[in-house]
Amino acid sequence: MAIPGEAYKALEDIVGEENITDEPATLDAYAYQFWAEFRQEGSKFMPRAGAVVLPKDTEEVQAIVRACNRYKLKCKASSTGWGLHAAPLVEDAIQLDMRRMDRIIEIDEKNMYAVIEPCVIGNTLQAEAMKVGLNTHMIGAGGSCSPLASATSFYGIGPDSLFMGTSPENLLGAEWVMPNGDILRTGSLGSGGGWFCGDGPGPSLRGVFRGAIGHAGGLGVFTKCAIKLYPWTGPAIMPIEGKPPLYTTPLPSIIRGHTITWSNWDGYRDALWKIFDNDIGYIAHRQFIMFGNELQGAALQIVTDPAKTIDDLEEIVSKPETQKLSEELYRSHKDKNFFPGLIEFMLTAPSVALVAEGKGVVQRVRELIGERVPEEADPGTIRREYASDGRRNIVHGSDSPGSARREIECLFSSQELYSYQDNRWLESEPG
Ligand SMILES: Cc1cc2nc3c(=O)[nH]c(=O)nc-3n(C[C@H](O)[C@H](O)[C@H](O)COP(=O)(O)OP(=O)(O)OC[C@H]3O[C@@H](n4cnc5c(N)ncnc54)[C@H](O)[C@@H]3O)c2cc1C
Repeated sequence: MAIPGEAYKALEDIVGEENITDEPATLDAYAYQFWAEFRQEGSKFMPRAGAVVLPKDTEEVQAIVRACNRYKLKCKASSTGWGLHAAPLVEDAIQLDMRRMDRIIEIDEKNMYAVIEPCVIGNTLQAEAMKVGLNTHMIGAGGSCSPLASATSFYGIGPDSLFMGTSPENLLGAEWVMPNGDILRTGSLGSGGGWFCGDGPGPSLRGVFRGAIGHAGGLGVFTKCAIKLYPWTGPAIMPIEGKPPLYTTPLPSIIRGHTITWSNWDGYRDALWKIFDNDIGYIAHRQFIMFGNELQGAALQIVTDPAKTIDDLEEIVSKPETQKLSEELYRSHKDKNFFPGLIEFMLTAPSVALVAEGKGVVQRVRELIGERVPEEADPGTIRREYASDGRRNIVHGSDSPGSARREIECLFSSQELYSYQDNRWLESEPG
């Protein structure tokens, strides 16, 4: 079913025939979303829109929303459309594609904010901000996303959030075409004071449309917003070397990368606090390699459960499933008195796991590792060179092909393994 001809005509009158379509292939292209198959329906397509409409300004958005109400059509905005959340959830809704609204309206250098439209992407804002010594928060999905979408409507977390906060925290005033078509201006903009402040003296309604994660397009359309900017002391323009896709930029001297390890979560938290409090650090990223899946689950719990904070990470990571994996890995020691301490120790820091294959590989890896107690290990072995004592084991190697099989199954799926036997070169006689 398509939308009624009369409704299509009303929308066409607002945006012009060039900026509306109900052409099936185009509608399918909008509906295709690589994440869609994770929904219950299992299809790679979201519900197909009745028409795609491209407004050019706030007045057109307002007229579209009012026309949709008149003809009882749902409508949903997509700014840069990175995920399935920007697609309508029912057939024959109107997909608003905001790409014509891509202007940076103002960068206020003195008061450190930018006023942007929905389809200004993070990279463009960053490049323009850097020219005047300013810097912007970027979500982890990258610089091709819309800062307005993240600030007003959805999510907004990135690796720089420890330094610059999340997108909603950087939202100052916003211009909002509400579901009934009325326009509401929030923050200081609401009292005619300009864009400088998200909370008072005008009405602050950030909590209404943001909540924890955002309304995901379910509460009308945002047409402009002001984003807080931060000082940038690097060069105004970063030179590019090479050609896409193989291009790079030499990092300016103000940027350095460090890999730092802490033996426990408290140390990590306290050190990060000091680093950011002193404006030294900019981005921090922590990867908990061996139990990566559990950390993802932990992050989700922290984001979705208002009672949980980053301080609960240690507790969440040591939930029973994580514990179970470690116990399975070390099951041969289950009856030993050091077992509880071993599991606790294994959960304190990241580990790198690898599978080695070859003739006599168990014995050869064990020779490389050396005896358990460092003082008894041969010079040149890993434990002799790097281990601190025999209890805090710096490296583990399987003690037989049988335990290797079991331990590999604990940590890897079959698709993650490559076997040299597939090439048979190991078995061939050297020429
Ligand atoms: C691979 C991948 C990685 C991701 N990583 C991150 C991450 O690290 N951090 C993070 O925060 N998010 C992440 N996301 C989630 C999400 O896609 C982004 O947060 C964000 O929505 C960026 O998408 P976008 O800017 O293209 O906005 P869109 O997809 O256009 O919009 C996001 C939502 O806001 C609504 N919306 C958009 N514009 C408007 C508007 N003008 N008015 C009203 N509603 C509007 C849309 O309907 C949609 O529900 C990731 C997504 C993917 C696919």
